[in-house]
Amino acid sequence: RSTGTIVTPILIDLQKSCATPLPVLRHVADAMTDDMRAGLVCDGGSDLKMILSYVNSLPTGNENGLVYALDLGGTNFRVIRVQLGGKDERVVDTEFDQVAIPQELMYRTSEELFDFIASGLAKFAEKESGKFSLSPGRKREIGFTFSFPVKQTSIDSGILIKWTKGFAVSGTPGNCVVACLNEAMERQGLDMRVSALVNDTVATLAGARYWDDDVMVAVILGTGTNACYVERTDVIPKMHGHTSSGNTIINTEWGAFSNGLPLTEFDRDMDAASINPGEQIFEKTISGMYLGEIVRRVLLKMAEVDALFGGFVPEKLSTPFALMTPDVCSMQQDITSDLGVVGSILNNIFEVKSSIRARKTVVEVCDTIVKRGGRLAGAGIVGILQKMEQDSEGLIFGKRTVVAMDGGLYEHYPQYRKYLQDAVTELLGSDISKNVIIDHSKDGSGIGAALLAASNSKYA
Ligand code: ADP
Repeated sequence: RSTGTIVTPILIDLQKSCATPLPVLRHVADAMTDDMRAGLVCDGGSDLKMILSYVNSLPTGNENGLVYALDLGGTNFRVIRVQLGGKDERVVDTEFDQVAIPQELMYRTSEELFDFIASGLAKFAEKESGKFSLSPGRKREIGFTFSFPVKQTSIDSGILIKWTKGFAVSGTPGNCVVACLNEAMERQGLDMRVSALVNDTVATLAGARYWDDDVMVAVILGTGTNACYVERTDVIPKMHGHTSSGNTIINTEWGAFSNGLPLTEFDRDMDAASINPGEQIFEKTISGMYLGEIVRRVLLKMAEVDALFGGFVPEKLSTPFALMTPDVCSMQQDITSDLGVVGSILNNIFEVKSSIRARKTVVEVCDTIVKRGGRLAGAGIVGILQKMEQDSEGLIFGKRTVVAMDGGLYEHYPQYRKYLQDAVTELLGSDISKNVIIDHSKDGSGIGAALLAASNSKYA
């Protein structure tokens, strides 16, 4: 422990209950493996939904021609067009555009939302330059990344289970989102066709696989978290019939995992106060939306009980989500001797003056929560890899295997990244972990969705 920290009983307790020594990591990895198996047997068999993606063949590099992708995942939608040139020319050209979704459309009807999207897509398609060319007799095909919970019914259809992330659009749950988009495109007079409906993790896996044949897993660590991987169809009891490749991608929805996690009173209180109590426990422990909030709850108790700020309890310390993960990250990067950055962030957010000893304590709290998050994410990844290894001895750990990572938390938080890698190395040992490459695949999902439209083209 760094000298000068105020060693409070709360800090000691916190560090004890957040500790992730090797036996805890191993238990979490094994529980992830077990839950994956249970979820593959039947729907509802496990915390993990293990959703069949219907993506049965991954990009090979031979994809050709002009394809589009449309990504709806939050407050923006993105449109991309890609001209593919096969093995030799690869991605010849890309263009993209991003449109903010007006706040009011999040509360209107499904028709209004999809009309807005289709009209944005139509405007983008109109501006297609001469660098892009469609083969004669074809329609423009779209890979549609839709990052809400969907019950997939085929590669190009799926029923929305519920809106999340603040969307409250009426009329879509229970309907096919591709049909909604197709009808809106028709109303716009836009002659395009959705050939693949995919989740963002699946699109990330496809995008990364295009450049590297050894990519087997994709993980998103951003506001939320999820993971998908390449599975053998003969070990999926709930899947009837096999694919020609013998493989398919499974969307784990691992944010719902909850077995054996080291949780604290702060996690339980945050969960109880959340809009989805009892759900998404792994996500609430490891993802960007929640790390700052857990830290805030700890600091509030320290201010109240341990006089962290000299007995003063700033009012703003009681505001949920006042402290965001990027602030936690900035505080951890402070290398000044008086922790001046930490002091000014605390002052800006909570309107509180802090001693150097208090700042050191705050950094220890941040580190404790981020270390637990990163290490548990690493254990989850090992859980997926060891499941694959158990079913195909040597094909994962005996050769190079790549895990494609994306998301703002992984991208911007160096300590989190290091803790994640440390856990993977500790669990696998230094020899095997040399074969496991955890690789940042930035924004691979846009091109990934376009590639899946190409590989699932009805003209191919
Ligand atoms: P999303 O997951 O919302 O689709 P991103 O993948 O860009 O989008 O992730 C955004 C999330 O990443 C933020 O909610 C935040 O938790 C985290 N994040 C962004 N910037 C930083 C940063 N500088 N340090 C730590 N975390 C960050």
